[in-house]
Amino acid sequence: MTTIVRPGEQTAHPPATAERCSLCGSARYKTLLRAKGRKVIECHGCGLRALDPMPSLSRMIAINEETVHPFFQACLEDESSYRGYFANKLDDLQQQRTEGRLLDVGCGAGFFLDAARARGYDVAGVDLSAVPTAYARDQLRLDVTMGSLYDYRAPSDAFDLITIFQTIEHDPNPAALGAELFRIMAPGGTLMVTTPAADGFVARVMGKRWFGYRNVEHVTFFTRRSLQHALEAAGFEIISLDVEHGKKLTMKYVLNRLINYYYNHRTFIRNGLRLLHPAVFLLGKVVLFEPWAHLYAIARKPETASSVGPVPAQLPAQEPDGGRGAPPTITDE
Ligand SMILES: [Zn+2]
Repeated sequence: MTTIVRPGEQTAHPPATAERCSLCGSARYKTLLRAKGRKVIECHGCGLRALDPMPSLSRMIAINEETVHPFFQACLEDESSYRGYFANKLDDLQQQRTEGRLLDVGCGAGFFLDAARARGYDVAGVDLSAVPTAYARDQLRLDVTMGSLYDYRAPSDAFDLITIFQTIEHDPNPAALGAELFRIMAPGGTLMVTTPAADGFVARVMGKRWFGYRNVEHVTFFTRRSLQHALEAAGFEIISLDVEHGKKLTMKYVLNRLINYYYNHRTFIRNGLRLLHPAVFLLGKVVLFEPWAHLYAIARKPETASSVGPVPAQLPAQEPDGGRGAPPTITDE
Protein backbone atom coordinates (compact mmCIF):
# COMPACT_ATOMS: atom_id res chain seq x y z
CA MET A 1 0.00 0.00 0.00
CA THR A 2 2.82 2.30 0.68
CA THR A 3 6.07 3.00 -0.82
CA ILE A 4 9.58 3.37 -0.91
CA VAL A 5 11.47 6.29 -2.05
CA ARG A 6 15.04 6.40 -1.05
CA PRO A 7 15.88 9.54 0.85
CA GLY A 8 18.75 11.21 -0.91
CA GLU A 9 17.81 9.50 -4.13
CA GLN A 10 17.76 12.60 -6.24
CA THR A 11 21.29 13.59 -5.63
CA ALA A 12 22.92 10.20 -5.57
CA HIS A 13 20.96 8.32 -8.22
CA PRO A 14 18.76 10.24 -10.58
CA PRO A 15 15.61 8.26 -11.34
CA ALA A 16 14.25 7.71 -14.83
CA THR A 17 14.66 10.69 -17.07
CA ALA A 18 14.57 11.22 -20.76
CA GLU A 19 18.29 10.46 -20.74
CA ARG A 20 18.26 6.84 -19.65
CA CYS A 21 15.60 4.34 -18.60
CA SER A 22 16.05 3.53 -14.94
CA LEU A 23 15.05 -0.06 -15.57
CA CYS A 24 16.95 -1.15 -18.67
CA GLY A 25 19.31 1.74 -19.38
CA SER A 26 17.99 2.34 -22.87
CA ALA A 27 18.21 5.88 -24.19
CA ARG A 28 15.39 5.31 -26.67
CA TYR A 29 11.95 6.40 -25.58
CA LYS A 30 8.86 8.16 -26.83
CA THR A 31 6.47 10.58 -25.23
CA LEU A 32 3.39 8.48 -24.55
CA LEU A 33 0.96 11.04 -23.19
CA ARG A 34 0.50 14.10 -21.07
CA ALA A 35 -1.94 13.93 -18.19
CA LYS A 36 -2.68 16.46 -15.53
CA GLY A 37 0.39 18.48 -16.41
CA ARG A 38 2.66 15.46 -16.25
CA LYS A 39 4.50 13.87 -19.16
CA VAL A 40 4.67 10.09 -19.35
CA ILE A 41 7.39 8.55 -21.48
CA GLU A 42 7.66 4.94 -22.63
CA CYS A 43 10.97 3.15 -22.96
CA HIS A 44 11.61 1.35 -26.25
CA GLY A 45 13.90 -1.09 -24.51
CA CYS A 46 11.65 -2.52 -21.80
CA GLY A 47 8.32 -0.75 -22.14
CA LEU A 48 8.54 0.98 -18.78
CA ARG A 49 6.38 4.05 -18.58
CA ALA A 50 7.62 6.75 -16.26
CA LEU A 51 7.19 10.40 -15.51
CA ASP A 52 9.58 12.75 -17.18
CA PRO A 53 10.92 14.45 -15.28
CA MET A 54 10.47 12.61 -12.02
CA PRO A 55 8.94 14.79 -9.30
CA SER A 56 11.32 15.90 -6.64
CA LEU A 57 11.40 13.99 -3.43
CA SER A 58 10.28 17.00 -1.46
CA ARG A 59 7.30 17.38 -3.76
CA MET A 60 6.32 13.76 -3.19
CA ILE A 61 6.66 14.16 0.54
CA ALA A 62 4.37 17.17 0.45
CA ILE A 63 1.79 15.30 -1.60
CA ASN A 64 1.89 12.38 0.74
CA GLU A 65 1.40 14.54 3.76
CA GLU A 66 -1.87 15.65 2.27
CA THR A 67 -3.12 12.33 0.98
CA VAL A 68 -2.12 9.75 3.56
CA HIS A 69 -4.65 10.57 6.24
CA PRO A 70 -7.84 10.52 4.18
CA PHE A 71 -6.56 7.39 2.52
CA PHE A 72 -5.87 5.70 5.80
CA GLN A 73 -9.41 6.41 6.95
CA ALA A 74 -10.68 4.92 3.72
CA CYS A 75 -8.61 1.81 4.40
CA LEU A 76 -10.09 1.35 7.83
CA GLU A 77 -13.61 1.86 6.57
CA ASP A 78 -12.97 -0.64 3.84
CA GLU A 79 -11.31 -3.24 6.00
CA SER A 80 -13.60 -6.13 5.08
CA SER A 81 -13.02 -5.51 1.40
CA TYR A 82 -9.26 -5.52 1.91
CA ARG A 83 -9.43 -8.66 3.97
CA GLY A 84 -11.45 -10.47 1.35
CA TYR A 85 -8.97 -9.51 -1.32
CA PHE A 86 -6.00 -10.53 0.81
CA ALA A 87 -7.58 -13.87 1.70
CA ASN A 88 -7.52 -14.71 -1.99
CA LYS A 89 -3.90 -13.65 -2.22
CA LEU A 90 -3.03 -15.87 0.75
CA ASP A 91 -4.74 -18.80 -0.94
CA ASP A 92 -2.41 -18.26 -3.87
CA LEU A 93 0.61 -17.82 -1.66
CA GLN A 94 -0.08 -21.07 0.17
CA GLN A 95 0.09 -22.88 -3.13
CA GLN A 96 3.72 -21.81 -3.32
CA ARG A 97 4.74 -22.18 0.29
CA THR A 98 2.76 -22.87 3.46
CA GLU A 99 5.19 -21.54 6.04
CA GLY A 100 8.21 -19.31 6.43
CA ARG A 101 9.33 -15.77 7.07
CA LEU A 102 7.13 -13.28 5.23
CA LEU A 103 7.79 -9.57 4.65
CA ASP A 104 5.04 -7.26 3.38
CA VAL A 105 6.56 -4.16 1.81
CA GLY A 106 4.20 -1.22 2.04
CA CYS A 107 2.14 -3.08 4.62
CA GLY A 108 -0.06 -0.14 5.55
CA ALA A 109 -2.42 -0.89 8.43
CA GLY A 110 -1.35 -4.54 8.46
CA PHE A 111 -4.53 -6.30 7.33
CA PHE A 112 -2.59 -8.62 5.06
CA LEU A 113 0.03 -9.40 7.69
CA ASP A 114 -2.62 -10.08 10.27
CA ALA A 115 -4.27 -12.61 7.97
CA ALA A 116 -0.92 -14.15 7.00
CA ARG A 117 0.01 -14.59 10.65
CA ALA A 118 -3.28 -16.38 11.25
CA ARG A 119 -2.31 -18.84 8.55
CA GLY A 120 0.96 -19.63 10.23
CA TYR A 121 3.50 -17.41 8.51
CA ASP A 122 6.16 -15.64 10.55
CA VAL A 123 5.36 -12.08 9.49
CA ALA A 124 6.98 -8.65 9.42
CA GLY A 125 6.15 -5.46 7.61
CA VAL A 126 7.70 -2.19 6.55
CA ASP A 127 5.88 0.95 5.55
CA LEU A 128 6.79 4.61 5.22
CA SER A 129 3.66 5.99 6.82
CA ALA A 130 3.57 6.72 10.52
CA VAL A 131 -0.17 6.44 11.09
CA PRO A 132 -0.78 3.05 9.44
CA THR A 133 2.32 1.51 10.98
CA ALA A 134 1.26 2.69 14.41
CA TYR A 135 -2.12 1.08 13.84
CA ALA A 136 -0.49 -2.19 12.75
CA ARG A 137 1.74 -2.23 15.81
CA ASP A 138 -0.69 -1.02 18.44
CA GLN A 139 -3.99 -2.46 17.29
CA LEU A 140 -2.86 -5.62 15.55
CA ARG A 141 0.34 -6.27 17.53
CA LEU A 142 2.37 -6.79 14.39
CA ASP A 143 6.11 -6.52 13.84
CA VAL A 144 6.02 -3.49 11.58
CA THR A 145 8.78 -0.98 11.00
CA MET A 146 8.22 2.54 9.81
CA GLY A 147 10.60 3.57 7.05
CA SER A 148 11.60 2.68 3.53
CA LEU A 149 12.59 -0.80 2.43
CA TYR A 150 16.07 0.59 1.92
CA ASP A 151 16.27 1.95 5.44
CA TYR A 152 14.97 -1.35 6.72
CA ARG A 153 18.29 -2.97 5.81
CA ALA A 154 17.16 -6.54 6.09
CA PRO A 155 19.94 -9.11 5.99
CA SER A 156 20.49 -10.89 2.69
CA ASP A 157 18.33 -13.99 2.15
CA ALA A 158 16.18 -12.97 5.11
CA PHE A 159 12.70 -13.85 3.83
CA ASP A 160 11.03 -16.87 2.25
CA LEU A 161 8.12 -14.81 1.00
CA ILE A 162 7.85 -11.13 0.11
CA THR A 163 4.63 -9.39 -0.85
CA ILE A 164 4.48 -5.90 -2.28
CA PHE A 165 0.98 -4.71 -3.11
CA GLN A 166 0.33 -1.46 -4.98
CA THR A 167 3.70 -0.04 -4.11
CA ILE A 168 6.23 -0.41 -6.91
CA GLU A 169 4.54 2.34 -8.94
CA HIS A 170 5.63 4.86 -6.31
CA ASP A 171 9.32 4.11 -6.63
CA PRO A 172 11.32 6.20 -9.10
CA ASN A 173 13.87 3.45 -9.56
CA PRO A 174 12.33 0.03 -10.18
CA ALA A 175 15.73 -1.50 -10.90
CA ALA A 176 17.01 -0.59 -7.45
CA LEU A 177 13.79 -1.83 -5.89
CA GLY A 178 14.00 -5.16 -7.72
CA ALA A 179 17.62 -5.60 -6.70
CA GLU A 180 16.82 -4.99 -3.06
CA LEU A 181 13.86 -7.39 -3.09
CA PHE A 182 16.06 -10.02 -4.68
CA ARG A 183 18.85 -9.49 -2.18
CA ILE A 184 16.71 -9.96 0.91
CA MET A 185 14.81 -12.94 -0.53
CA ALA A 186 16.05 -16.40 0.40
CA PRO A 187 16.91 -18.68 -2.52
CA GLY A 188 13.76 -20.46 -3.63
CA GLY A 189 11.63 -17.73 -2.04
CA THR A 190 8.39 -16.42 -3.47
CA LEU A 191 7.61 -12.84 -4.47
CA MET A 192 4.05 -11.58 -4.95
CA VAL A 193 3.49 -8.21 -6.67
CA THR A 194 0.47 -6.17 -7.65
CA THR A 195 0.45 -2.81 -9.39
CA PRO A 196 -2.06 -0.88 -11.50
CA ALA A 197 -2.15 -2.34 -15.00
CA ALA A 198 -1.24 0.28 -17.58
CA ASP A 199 -2.21 -2.27 -20.25
CA GLY A 200 -5.39 -3.37 -18.50
CA PHE A 201 -8.90 -2.90 -19.77
CA VAL A 202 -9.62 0.19 -17.71
CA ALA A 203 -6.36 1.90 -18.63
CA ARG A 204 -6.82 1.26 -22.32
CA VAL A 205 -10.37 2.55 -22.32
CA MET A 206 -9.55 5.63 -20.27
CA GLY A 207 -6.30 6.54 -22.00
CA LYS A 208 -4.67 9.55 -20.47
CA ARG A 209 -7.58 9.88 -18.07
CA TRP A 210 -6.67 6.59 -16.44
CA PHE A 211 -6.36 7.06 -12.67
CA GLY A 212 -2.89 5.57 -12.73
CA TYR A 213 -1.50 8.41 -14.79
CA ARG A 214 -3.38 11.02 -12.84
CA ASN A 215 -2.65 9.77 -9.36
CA VAL A 216 -0.15 12.27 -8.07
CA GLU A 217 1.60 9.56 -6.09
CA HIS A 218 2.44 7.36 -9.07
CA VAL A 219 5.71 7.84 -10.92
CA THR A 220 6.07 4.59 -12.88
CA PHE A 221 3.42 2.68 -14.80
CA PHE A 222 3.74 -1.01 -15.64
CA THR A 223 2.46 -3.20 -18.40
CA ARG A 224 2.83 -6.99 -18.45
CA ARG A 225 5.92 -6.52 -20.55
CA SER A 226 7.69 -4.02 -18.32
CA LEU A 227 6.77 -5.79 -15.09
CA GLN A 228 8.14 -9.02 -16.51
CA HIS A 229 11.28 -7.17 -17.49
CA ALA A 230 11.64 -5.63 -14.05
CA LEU A 231 11.28 -8.96 -12.26
CA GLU A 232 13.53 -10.91 -14.60
CA ALA A 233 16.17 -8.20 -14.67
CA ALA A 234 16.34 -8.44 -10.89
CA GLY A 235 16.92 -12.20 -11.18
CA PHE A 236 13.45 -13.57 -10.44
CA GLU A 237 11.77 -16.33 -12.42
CA ILE A 238 8.16 -15.58 -13.33
CA ILE A 239 5.65 -18.15 -12.10
CA SER A 240 2.59 -16.23 -13.23
CA LEU A 241 1.86 -12.72 -14.45
CA ASP A 242 -1.49 -11.49 -15.59
CA VAL A 243 -4.12 -8.79 -15.34
CA GLU A 244 -6.61 -9.43 -12.57
CA HIS A 245 -9.74 -8.06 -11.03
CA GLY A 246 -9.03 -5.82 -8.13
CA LYS A 247 -10.73 -5.53 -4.81
CA LYS A 248 -14.38 -5.11 -4.20
CA LEU A 249 -14.94 -1.42 -3.75
CA THR A 250 -17.50 0.37 -1.67
CA MET A 251 -18.91 3.68 -2.82
CA LYS A 252 -17.27 5.39 0.10
CA TYR A 253 -13.90 4.08 -0.97
CA VAL A 254 -14.47 5.25 -4.52
CA LEU A 255 -15.35 8.69 -3.23
CA ASN A 256 -12.19 8.92 -1.21
CA ARG A 257 -10.18 7.91 -4.21
CA LEU A 258 -11.90 10.56 -6.29
CA ILE A 259 -10.90 13.19 -3.78
CA ASN A 260 -7.36 12.03 -4.20
CA TYR A 261 -7.75 11.86 -7.99
CA TYR A 262 -8.71 15.51 -8.06
CA TYR A 263 -5.89 16.48 -5.79
CA ASN A 264 -4.67 19.21 -8.11
CA HIS A 265 -8.03 20.42 -9.20
CA ARG A 266 -9.89 23.37 -7.94
CA THR A 267 -10.71 23.29 -4.31
CA PHE A 268 -14.42 23.40 -4.87
CA ILE A 269 -14.37 20.08 -6.67
CA ARG A 270 -12.64 18.40 -3.79
CA ASN A 271 -14.84 20.08 -1.22
CA GLY A 272 -17.89 19.14 -3.24
CA LEU A 273 -16.83 15.53 -3.17
CA ARG A 274 -16.39 15.74 0.57
CA LEU A 275 -19.85 17.16 0.93
CA LEU A 276 -21.17 14.08 -0.81
CA HIS A 277 -19.93 11.86 2.00
CA PRO A 278 -23.26 11.76 3.86
CA ALA A 279 -25.03 10.62 0.71
CA VAL A 280 -22.53 7.86 0.38
CA PHE A 281 -23.59 6.36 3.66
CA LEU A 282 -26.89 5.62 1.96
CA LEU A 283 -24.99 3.76 -0.71
CA GLY A 284 -22.66 2.12 1.75
CA LYS A 285 -23.76 -1.38 0.87
CA VAL A 286 -23.23 -0.94 -2.83
CA VAL A 287 -20.21 -2.90 -3.89
CA LEU A 288 -18.34 -2.33 -7.09
CA PHE A 289 -15.63 -4.44 -8.58
CA GLU A 290 -12.45 -3.09 -10.11
CA PRO A 291 -12.46 -4.56 -13.61
CA TRP A 292 -9.11 -5.97 -14.77
CA ALA A 293 -7.33 -3.12 -13.16
CA HIS A 294 -4.18 -4.65 -11.71
CA LEU A 295 -1.17 -6.62 -12.75
CA TYR A 296 -0.62 -9.59 -10.53
CA ALA A 297 2.67 -11.45 -10.59
CA ILE A 298 4.13 -14.33 -8.64
CA ALA A 299 7.84 -14.93 -9.08
CA ARG A 300 10.56 -17.00 -7.52
CA LYS A 301 14.18 -16.45 -6.65
CA PRO A 302 16.04 -19.43 -8.08
CA GLU A 303 17.27 -21.98 -5.56
CA THR A 304 20.75 -21.61 -6.92
CA ALA A 305 20.77 -17.83 -6.73
CA SER A 306 23.28 -16.13 -4.54
CA SER A 307 22.73 -12.81 -2.88
CA VAL A 308 25.69 -12.69 -0.58
CA GLY A 309 26.66 -9.24 -1.78
CA PRO A 310 26.78 -6.29 0.55
CA VAL A 311 23.89 -3.96 1.18
CA PRO A 312 23.60 -1.93 -2.02
CA ALA A 313 25.70 1.17 -2.16
CA GLN A 314 22.74 3.35 -3.06
CA LEU A 315 21.23 2.90 0.36
CA PRO A 316 20.79 6.28 1.92
CA ALA A 317 22.53 7.64 4.93
CA GLN A 318 20.61 7.90 8.15
CA GLU A 319 17.79 10.35 8.18
CA PRO A 320 19.05 13.81 9.06
CA ASP A 321 16.11 14.40 11.35
CA GLY A 322 16.70 11.23 13.28
CA GLY A 323 14.16 9.30 11.29
CA ARG A 324 11.09 10.99 12.67
CA GLY A 325 9.01 11.08 9.58
CA ALA A 326 11.04 12.43 6.76
CA PRO A 327 10.81 9.43 4.48
CA PRO A 328 8.08 10.15 2.02
CA THR A 329 5.10 7.96 2.39
CA ILE A 330 3.01 7.47 -0.55
CA THR A 331 -0.06 5.48 -0.23
CA ASP A 332 -2.24 3.67 -2.61
CA GLU A 333 -5.14 1.34 -2.64
ZN1 LIG B 1 13.68 0.56 -20.30
